[in-house]
Amino acid sequence: MTPLPMPAFFVGHGSPMNALEHNRYTDSWRALGERVGRPRAILVVSAHWYIQATALTAMARPRTIHDFYGFPQELFALRYPAPGDPALAEEIADVVRPTWVGLDNDSWGIDHGAWSVLVHAFPGADVPVLQLAVNSAKSFDYHAELGAALAPLRQSGVLIIASGNVVHNLGLLDPSQPDAGFDWAHRFDGDVRELMATTPGEVVNMARHGDYATAAPTPEHFIPLLYVAGLAEASNSAATVEVEGFAFGSLSMTGYRVGAYGDREATPDSSG
Ligand code: ZN
Repeated sequence: MTPLPMPAFFVGHGSPMNALEHNRYTDSWRALGERVGRPRAILVVSAHWYIQATALTAMARPRTIHDFYGFPQELFALRYPAPGDPALAEEIADVVRPTWVGLDNDSWGIDHGAWSVLVHAFPGADVPVLQLAVNSAKSFDYHAELGAALAPLRQSGVLIIASGNVVHNLGLLDPSQPDAGFDWAHRFDGDVRELMATTPGEVVNMARHGDYATAAPTPEHFIPLLYVAGLAEASNSAATVEVEGFAFGSLSMTGYRVGAYGDREATPDSSG
């Protein structure tokens, strides 16, 4: 049986508290982990590693990074001790050539864009995790093209998870509406959803949308979506909504999948 390519995902990670909570978003992440079986490794494109470079974590023992303030001690005590995979980092740098990716051996690790999801999806923390930085100096086209360039990794059993939020405006959070979205948030999220379901390559044009400036006052949570849009384009497919919803008015929790779950159990071990 020919193994199916590993599906790829965009996850709306929302509040870091999702790491500790159990709700329908975290349920969907747990289901994701169960349904994909055991990947060779997990590559996370996280909104929270937003730097002026295209970089990939390449250390054998990535540390858990707590890049937030004002949350309970329990969250700062959380560790996600998954190993890295230095050899795979080199392989990915080759796969995306001629795009240059720097290998990071000591500056980053696993941030909460990754671990708040992975503690649910892969609670054993025994699958290697690598992170790809979001390069703040690059265009939306660059990010979508780099996403498309990662497509061969799906064939070799690497699970790609892009983690951000389609709508992410912390300045407009409304704590009185934990499960609601503002009208403009619904509009923007709905228009993205339509493109992801039909012509994902056009998601790069969402910066011209009338609600873009409100939905993404800073772009780092939106850009990870472009990687999954690029992966969808690369496989001539559309993306499927995995979970949907809004939080605190100004966050969209919509998640997407590219590719099929299929019978992951039939996938042979691709190591070696
Ligand atoms: Zn975030």
